[in-house]
Amino acid sequence: MALSGKKGLVIGIANQDSIAYGCAKAFRAEGADLAVSYLNAKAEPYVRPLADGLDAAIIEPLDVRVPGQMEALFERVQKDWGRLDFLLHAIAFAPKADLHGRVVDSSWEGFAQAMDISCHSFVRMAKLAEPLMDKGGAMLTMSYIGAAKAMRDYGMMGAVKSTLESCVRYMALELGQKAIRVNAISPGPIRTRAAGGLKNFDAAVETAEANAPLPLATAEDVGALAAFLASDAARAITGQTCYVDGGFSVVG
Ligand code: NAD
Repeated sequence: MALSGKKGLVIGIANQDSIAYGCAKAFRAEGADLAVSYLNAKAEPYVRPLADGLDAAIIEPLDVRVPGQMEALFERVQKDWGRLDFLLHAIAFAPKADLHGRVVDSSWEGFAQAMDISCHSFVRMAKLAEPLMDKGGAMLTMSYIGAAKAMRDYGMMGAVKSTLESCVRYMALELGQKAIRVNAISPGPIRTRAAGGLKNFDAAVETAEANAPLPLATAEDVGALAAFLASDAARAITGQTCYVDGGFSVVG
């Protein structure tokens, strides 16, 4: 199996629809041992049974806004495993008023919060993961086509994802000499809880379905790509944004 003997940390499972869960299932099916986080005590009853089903060895809370919590999670990984082979960051948040409004009208606080939770948290995670990946590794995050093009109703999150994709390129450049690869995955629209918070999300799904050459990707399809990118078979791939969207992004 492509990930057998590898240890991976999965951030972003909220429920069984989460893209992170689709990825975690694929990682596990390929033989990886997993550590899984949940947002807080309210989320734990939804995430823990899924993590148990994945035989997760480590199940810890992580709200990236809480000082010290990310460090505590990585300390646990260090203590139990002493190393990490791959990391999946699949989280995003923006306050609704800013997310639903124009970029032009976005508030300083809302923009900063969205950037912190959805983008800079990946940078902070990479810093903590780097010393654990002393024999190389793979870091993955989730983007969206709204990073590359101005998509209706994606607004401020498009600017945030653009920055995330740029961070991926710079981090790939900086970490390549340690054989650590950094990539973004860009799925098409998938019905998840976070996606439900976007304005007119159903219309985005319908447009993509009507135009994509193939059926839109499921969380399991995203998982298949994530498992490949985490594996040694992807050893020459870094700094990329890899689309898994039924081809929607190439159609004009
Ligand atoms: P989801 O609601 O299942 O997952 C979002 C996750 O973000 C949740 O687990 C939530 O707990 C976590 N999160 C939010 N604030 C957090 C914080 N402060 N600290 C830690 N975790 C926090 O939705 P999803 O669609 O699976 O989203 C996962 C990723 O995929 C996001 O980055 C999203 O932008 C991206 N994405 C989603 C789609 C889509 O159509 N669903 C398409 C492209 C990219």
